Amino acid sequence: MKSAILSVGTELLFGQITNTNTVFLSQQLNLLGFDVMYHYTVGDNPERLEDMIALAFKDCDLILTTGGLGPTQDDLTKEIVCRALDDHMVLHQPSMEKLESYFKKQNRQMTENNRKQAYMPSRAVVFDNDAGTAPGFALEKDGKQIICMPGPPREMTRMFERSVLPYLEKKSESTIYYRMIRTFGIGESMLETKLLPLIDEQTDPTLATYAKEGECCLRIASKRATKEEAKEAVDAMLEKVKAIIGEYIYSCDNEELVDVVSRKLLDRGLSISSAESCTGGMFAAALTSVSGISAVFDRSLVTYSNNAKMAELGVKEETLTAYGAVSEETAREMAEGLHRVSGSDICVSVTGIAGPEGGTAEKPVGLVYIGAHYQERTICRKIQMRNVNRNWNRNFAVLSMLDVVN
Ligand code: ATP
Ligand code: MG
Repeated sequence: MKSAILSVGTELLFGQITNTNTVFLSQQLNLLGFDVMYHYTVGDNPERLEDMIALAFKDCDLILTTGGLGPTQDDLTKEIVCRALDDHMVLHQPSMEKLESYFKKQNRQMTENNRKQAYMPSRAVVFDNDAGTAPGFALEKDGKQIICMPGPPREMTRMFERSVLPYLEKKSESTIYYRMIRTFGIGESMLETKLLPLIDEQTDPTLATYAKEGECCLRIASKRATKEEAKEAVDAMLEKVKAIIGEYIYSCDNEELVDVVSRKLLDRGLSISSAESCTGGMFAAALTSVSGISAVFDRSLVTYSNNAKMAELGVKEETLTAYGAVSEETAREMAEGLHRVSGSDICVSVTGIAGPEGGTAEKPVGLVYIGAHYQERTICRKIQMRNVNRNWNRNFAVLSMLDVVN
């Protein structure tokens, strides 16, 4: 079924709040096998809301709205939806009773606009709100259907999970199952080129690639009558994908690289330290975002200046003079020096030119060397990024360090 999500609220248009409801609902609808065709956002304005509903119904049979169900003047979603689907409001006795007992318990006077919340379109299927006062509802006419939920995310998600989800499950003809595959070290266009035979081959499962801050994700999705069938189709496709790009895959379950690497270190009980120049501690920040990492993470030395590299890590002055701070030789000496001072099983180092200024013809912006000392051996990886954005380069350098450790 084709569906749309319609968010109501002027605060959304002002950019005062982030539209997390739409993200949540899109994910949920996808999992149910509904095709989400549009995201609409409209302010608290009756005419524009009505226009938006008409527009969405041109293409879609189901609209999910959030927001504008409260008791105040600007909350008009219910009235407009009622009108759009040719219904009229009636008193919904169970809601009125619930409201009355709520106000009694709170020892508060109920006002006329509070009562308004107990009026519902006559044909509506009403959804209880156990985290707030405004009930939600579903209303249908000639195969077109609108489901209205309150704006506050806590109320909305609870209502969705307890009432709307079971309601929609009955309407869904199929189920989507998908897996997010995470890769590093291969660009999106190369990934797509390599997978083209699989992408062209069929319509289900579908394969879609996404670029994500220096990484590449692949979504394998299947829509079948049952979840088991869809899962089987996706897993079979995953095997084919692995045969082609297996070396670049670091997770088949949408994990972050830092989590995968940390788990490996913890499982094997390997201690790790880092010596950071251009990343200025970002590698350590990434690792220490993982809970429990203290069992294996020893230290990170931010050795930004030549002086620090010599004093803290014993990098030789001759090396710095002959090859420069950004060089394979320096990266190696940093990793080896770090091993001497920390004794960690894995010692990883980084030195590079983050940009946007500071590059030369020989050593352009985005040039990074990563050194790693492990089991008496030192390796070095040279990376040339084609980006001048300083933060992007520094992030990518951290990912590359994690990839080397992985
Ligand atoms: P209330 O009874 O609280 O007035 P309501 O159904 O009328 O509920 P709104 O008034 O539209 O909902 O929104 C209430 C609050 O919920 C907003 O101020 C905002 O904090 C949050 N909210 C609304 N819509 C969204 C959204 N799409 N994403 C995230 N938060 C939202
Ligand atoms: Mg409101």
